[in-house]
Amino acid sequence: MKINEIFFSIQGESSWVGQPTVFVRTSGCHLRCRYCDTTYAFYEGRSMSVDEVVENVQIHPTRYVCLTGGEPMLQSDTPLLLQRLCDLNLNVSLETSGGLDCTGVDPRVKLILDVKTPDSGAGHSFDEKNLSLADVNRKNRTEFKFVICSESDFDWAVDFAQRHQLFERAEVLMSPAFRRVDARWLAEKILSTGCFARLQTQLHKSIWSPHVRGV
Ligand code: SF4
Repeated sequence: MKINEIFFSIQGESSWVGQPTVFVRTSGCHLRCRYCDTTYAFYEGRSMSVDEVVENVQIHPTRYVCLTGGEPMLQSDTPLLLQRLCDLNLNVSLETSGGLDCTGVDPRVKLILDVKTPDSGAGHSFDEKNLSLADVNRKNRTEFKFVICSESDFDWAVDFAQRHQLFERAEVLMSPAFRRVDARWLAEKILSTGCFARLQTQLHKSIWSPHVRGV
């Protein structure tokens, strides 16, 4: 696998926000979102075997592991790594754009599918096969995340979630795009429209400087 970094920090997003978590960041991404804060992961990285990644994860005192990127689903060994981590009874999450088919991922993994909005610059990248993962039987295991860049993005995200019954069948997360819209504006939009989205504020960026790597 090509790995950009492995580090121990506080989970800043998802329903596991606040948990001490080991992050495994893979290298490479096929998208170019306008707000991307991990452009250093497009090319930088080193080759590691699945065994080496598992060993590095186990050094840290936590039960939470998050595979992130870049786009982890570009790596052919990602499904095997996720399975190996689940077999260790770790709580495992996968952060992906949902632009590649995730339906074969180990069902024990919590999926955070970051549906790209039109103003992300990567709209239309979502693989609709992943909508089958919105299932009441795995409601605690699938989260659809929307990073909101504008009012029209908010309306688009609500419409997408309603058309696919995501509010009923999964968790829906909304985050303000960093320095594009603010959290208070998004909170008020969620409250005024009555949609059942969970507001996310990237906790790690308020604890540390937004530009610090490895947190
Ligand atoms: S999918 Fe993630 S890593 Fe890829 S360009 Fe978008 S924000 Fe950056």
